Amino acid sequence: MAGTFILRARTGRAFHLRRGATLRITNTFGSQVVDTWAFKADDIAEFMSMEHTRVHSSTASPVKGTIFRSNRRSPMLDFVEDTSPGVHDWFFAACDQSRYEMLGSEAAHDNCSDNLKQAMREIGHSITHVPCPLNLFENAPLLAGDTAIHPPVSRPGDFVAFTALADLIICLSACPQDMADTNGTGREPRDVDVEVT
Ligand SMILES: [Zn+2]
Repeated sequence: MAGTFILRARTGRAFHLRRGATLRITNTFGSQVVDTWAFKADDIAEFMSMEHTRVHSSTASPVKGTIFRSNRRSPMLDFVEDTSPGVHDWFFAACDQSRYEMLGSEAAHDNCSDNLKQAMREIGHSITHVPCPLNLFENAPLLAGDTAIHPPVSRPGDFVAFTALADLIICLSACPQDMADTNGTGREPRDVDVEVT
């Protein structure tokens, strides 16, 4: 695809990104975490893998210049631009129904894992395994052996951009987390703007 769309709060969307295209994700309101996945367009068994990327990145967190690799170690995305303070996460699993039940939710709760499965279904793919996402704008520092999730430090209008290094399917989920400070102390999931050029 090419063009722009608004990724609505709490929802996911999957779309094709051709090799050489640029994907830009703008944190319109500043505090929204965006879970991001990539799959090879011709074989979704090959997907962007945070653990394989970390082996080759030599950085403790994803930064501009990171080449994201697949579970077969081939290049998938090049992190080419970041106007935010540069705080993103690549360690934490996507939220899911179990996570919200552990936080006290008794009802069905929107979640990034189901957003991925639903978005992929909408373009004709069935996903059973949820890879670890690239959690854009998520503030989950690794400090002296401890982990935590703090409110994002990104600001309204901050954006990140990636260039596709293969023909890909991208899935984005505007994280529905409203039971922790993942999306800010206001705990209100927000829309984000997406542009493909
Ligand atoms: Zn989430």
